[in-house]
Amino acid sequence: MSGERILVAEDSPEVREFIADYVLKPAGYEVLVADDGAIAFRLAREKKPDLIIADWRMPNLDGLDLKRALTSHSINVPFILISGEATEEVIAQAALSNVSAFLRKPLKTDVLLKVVSYHLSQQRKSLPVADSTEKRVRELETLQSIGHALTSTLDLDQVLSRVVEAAVSLTDAEEGSLLLLDEYTHELVMRAARNFDDQFVRTFRLRSEDSLAGEVIRTGTPMLFGPNMPQKIKTSYLVRSLIYVPLRMQNRIFGVLGVDNRINARTFADTDVTTLNALADYAAIAIENARLYQHTNAERLKLEAILTHTGDGVIVVNDSNRIVLINAPARAVLNLDENHVAGKLVTDVIINQEVRDLLTHESAASPQKRTEIILDDNRVFNASLTSVPEVGRAVIMQDITHLKQLDRIKSEFVTTVSHDLRSPLTAILGYVGLLKRVGPINAQQDEFIKRIEISANAITTLITDLLDLGRIEAGFDTQKEPVSLARLAKHAADGLSPKAGLKGQKFVANIPESLPPVLGNAIRLRQMSANLIDNAIKYTPEGGTVTVNLLEADDQEIFTVSDTGIGIPLADQPYIFDKFYRAKGVPDTIQGTGLGLSIVKSIVENHGGRIWVDSKPNQGTTFTVVLPKYVEKKK
Ligand code: ADP
Repeated sequence: MSGERILVAEDSPEVREFIADYVLKPAGYEVLVADDGAIAFRLAREKKPDLIIADWRMPNLDGLDLKRALTSHSINVPFILISGEATEEVIAQAALSNVSAFLRKPLKTDVLLKVVSYHLSQQRKSLPVADSTEKRVRELETLQSIGHALTSTLDLDQVLSRVVEAAVSLTDAEEGSLLLLDEYTHELVMRAARNFDDQFVRTFRLRSEDSLAGEVIRTGTPMLFGPNMPQKIKTSYLVRSLIYVPLRMQNRIFGVLGVDNRINARTFADTDVTTLNALADYAAIAIENARLYQHTNAERLKLEAILTHTGDGVIVVNDSNRIVLINAPARAVLNLDENHVAGKLVTDVIINQEVRDLLTHESAASPQKRTEIILDDNRVFNASLTSVPEVGRAVIMQDITHLKQLDRIKSEFVTTVSHDLRSPLTAILGYVGLLKRVGPINAQQDEFIKRIEISANAITTLITDLLDLGRIEAGFDTQKEPVSLARLAKHAADGLSPKAGLKGQKFVANIPESLPPVLGNAIRLRQMSANLIDNAIKYTPEGGTVTVNLLEADDQEIFTVSDTGIGIPLADQPYIFDKFYRAKGVPDTIQGTGLGLSIVKSIVENHGGRIWVDSKPNQGTTFTVVLPKYVEKKK
């Protein structure tokens, strides 16, 4: 191995230069030179060469005396004696002085190099391992590969026992242990050990305040105790020498790694502390990784268990519309037998159009967050979309079949009752109208008759609404034709603008003269527009503004009614389209049945459209209706 240091002791300048400059330096060795034995001896002590080449005959100290002097000072590096004379006596003396090799001058370059290299390599092998750089390099290599193996292990118990295993082997210790700090009790618990009694390990708990390991936790500095200072790891557990190093992650010390010798008197060196410290760095990362993984895995299993056992279907997709998770109920609803749909595109896996739309369409024109899915077996699911920050979106599907059935029964009942009430009501109104004609009526009686008429009319409106709703919901309004929504909306707006005028409201209608037709029922579409405009006027105080807009966008027409009125509290918004629902806080002076928006919604849905509300209390409300344009079927 080049780079090693060789001392050349030779009084002849020519020979000295030849060996140093022509043989050794070109071969990569570092060379020290001395022109007499005494200087050579001094240099050997000071500079610690790896090999010495010395002439036999030199001033002050000859070659053999130099060798003896070196031996007596425990400098036992290879020693090559060179001489012009090779008498038997010289050779015998050289052998007796333990000289590594004897070479006769004139020296041959290749022979000298071979001999030098041979003895240096022998020397490397024979060096006490503890002193050699090579040992250190080997240790570091081992450490690195242990570190690599550790940081790629995710099983916490395995990581912990491998760390202890590595600590014991790297420091040649008898025992090893790894103590972790219990966050709650502040005790140190032995989590892995080597060569300790099992029972001892299981029951090992130390108060961190009054133990050696605890001190390492507190101070964050390693501890090394030699044989002259026997220490107790725990009461009655005496060790002869010991190292403890802290396990640290981002300035937080969470444990201690230790090795000790109980019987063996071998003391640990500072290099052992350095090695153990380096191992502790790798160990801390590996432990933290494994802990995080364990934690994440536990959370994942918990979530999986919750999702599997919940009756609702859950589908989670990421921002690229790939399925992150789909639980068993959702798979059953969507008829997906395949268990491995995770990672696939929604459009490749889910056939149901409503769910696909809900999961994939997030465009402004479709901020829809809820849809109903009707399966072939008539089961109905309510699918609602929620955005999951940093994950994507989730759709939750609840079986609402029984609610739908109840709703239908209720509607049928209401329709029947309404129908049956209508005839007697008509009779009441008819006879009330006749009362004045059959005889004189005093002022008080006239007042009572008016009240009867107002109430009977209110009931009639209610009944008409109910019957309308029943008819629309039941799909009796199947007769549809291409109609101009622009014309119908304009009629509604024109009819109601005087009402806004009476309240001193500003009424703005931006309705184009003509727009492409929509396929629909003219009476119902006019009713829908009028209901929304009427509400806007009704729920907007005097002096406010009501704005009606109609515009086309791609294959849709967008109708909006905005007002600057009382608004709808956020908590009420999901329910305002339900029958008889009226928002909290509506002043008593504003009369209503809570049926108008149910009728509007039913009409819109019956026409393949969507409706939603944006509202802020005390600021105003906007209802948006989107209807598809009529597309003429090709014959
Ligand atoms: P109502 O007969 O009560 O007007 P609707 O079904 O038309 O019934 O409306 C349901 C509820 O929605 C109302 O009671 C009211 O609370 C709220 N609402 C509807 N339109 C508006 C609006 N433009 N501004 C404020 N609140 C409204």
